Amino acid sequence: MSPLFPALAGDLPATADRPALRFGAHSLTYGQLAAAAGALAGRIRGADRVAVWATPTLETAVAVVAALLAGVPAVPLNPKSGESELGHIVKDSAPELILTTPGSDLPSTLDQLTRIDVDVHAPGENPPPTDLAPGHPALVVYTSGTTGPPKGAVIPRRAIAATLDALADAWQWTGDDVLVHALPLFHVHGLILGTLGPLRRGGSVRHLGRFDTAGVARELTEGATMLFGVPTMYHRLAEALPGEPALAAALGGARLLVSGSAALPVHDHERITAATGRRVIERYGMTETLMNTSVRADGEPRAGTVGVPLPGVELRLVEEDGTPVAAYDGETVGEIQVRGPNLFTEYLNRPDATAAAFTADGWFRTGDMAVRDPDGYVRIVGRKATDLIKSGGYKIGAGEIENALLEHPAVREAAVTGEPDDDLGERIVAWVVPGEQPHDTLAAELTRHVADRLAPHKRPRTVRFLGSLPRNDMGKIMKRALKDAHEDVAG
Ligand code: ATP
Ligand code: MG
Repeated sequence: MSPLFPALAGDLPATADRPALRFGAHSLTYGQLAAAAGALAGRIRGADRVAVWATPTLETAVAVVAALLAGVPAVPLNPKSGESELGHIVKDSAPELILTTPGSDLPSTLDQLTRIDVDVHAPGENPPPTDLAPGHPALVVYTSGTTGPPKGAVIPRRAIAATLDALADAWQWTGDDVLVHALPLFHVHGLILGTLGPLRRGGSVRHLGRFDTAGVARELTEGATMLFGVPTMYHRLAEALPGEPALAAALGGARLLVSGSAALPVHDHERITAATGRRVIERYGMTETLMNTSVRADGEPRAGTVGVPLPGVELRLVEEDGTPVAAYDGETVGEIQVRGPNLFTEYLNRPDATAAAFTADGWFRTGDMAVRDPDGYVRIVGRKATDLIKSGGYKIGAGEIENALLEHPAVREAAVTGEPDDDLGERIVAWVVPGEQPHDTLAAELTRHVADRLAPHKRPRTVRFLGSLPRNDMGKIMKRALKDAHEDVAG
């Protein structure tokens, strides 16, 4: 059969009767996928842009593959977004059509779009090879909105191919790999890595619909080889492991456990290793850049690092004045800038934001701060905007303090922010979701706990308890919301 992504892939090592995608009870072989996506591609070819109502279903995967085959940029929409966010995205990206899973209930904001229900059993010819330039836009993916309103990143075909092939090299990812998938399909992690990634290699995907530890254990026991997750999933696995020996055995037998989209707390990493004998591999990426770094499958895993730049990715750390940091000494903090074929083209309709994101010589400013070890391993300190606290003349990353807090058994979740302080510039504030222990003794105990682990200038001055941390649909902590909520309360 012809390759599924003519302009993306070289020779897809798949044959027609190989399993490609399984979502719950519904599955498609490569032959069936090519037929269904080919039929749909024929219906949408010529459109300027299509929206995809990105529920975690087979139909969503077929819709995106069809759009790639047709060369029509696809805009995945988060079905859980509020109407105002959906309204913003649809106005911004102006799709003509919306591809949906039959039975989906769409909000009235989307009424003006022509709806096509995806038929995953449509008989179709194998799609004719498309001949599209590597710079042709494949997807418009909106950023997670962690630091502000989501921006539409225009992702060219080249970037998808480059990032997936670089990951194949770093992870020794082949067509024999079977992925356990439980991520949403409207972000690059679940869509590009988790769905297009296995398809490009000729392997297969088993999507759980929604994450649960029993489903992960079952699939890994029944032949799946890899798991891609966000830190909140690994946290739930770490919590479940002591009571579930079958889960420990299943994770212990996996070829690859990968975490990304946010920092994996060291405490969770270590608990998983202790219970399973396996190390989680961390990778670092963004909607705008796809994947930048990863610990390699054949490299030395190191908790708290996101590994080394992927093949083809140039990465540097720069000082505030834009000069590269002098030394990779594991201590000097700089902003990560990247360059390479993995990068997006532009923010849709935002020439100002696009221009501001790049240096004159084409480096993308990630807004993430990091240090590098002498051997090149990158350790992310946090985001420039929300995680870097300037206190008493020091630049302090929130992550190290969060990791220290999370080591305390009574701390379920923790986030650290800076707040204005007359004396220090900024004061370190810890937000803690406690377990069972009463709050009055816990605050004092945490003060002692961090004093054993952190230098004085890194210790939180204030500890605030709350019932849960504000998180977005990727499980990322919304630090702005945390600060704003407090300002509201404080007047
Ligand atoms: P927005 O740009 O709209 O504020 P966002 O940055 O969260 O949202 P994404 O593009 O989904 O949107 O996320 C990319 C960011 O996620 C990175 O810039 C980085 O801060 C964080 N990130 C991703 N992987 C990791 C990781 N392994 N460790 C630490 N941070 C990570
Ligand atoms: Mg971002």
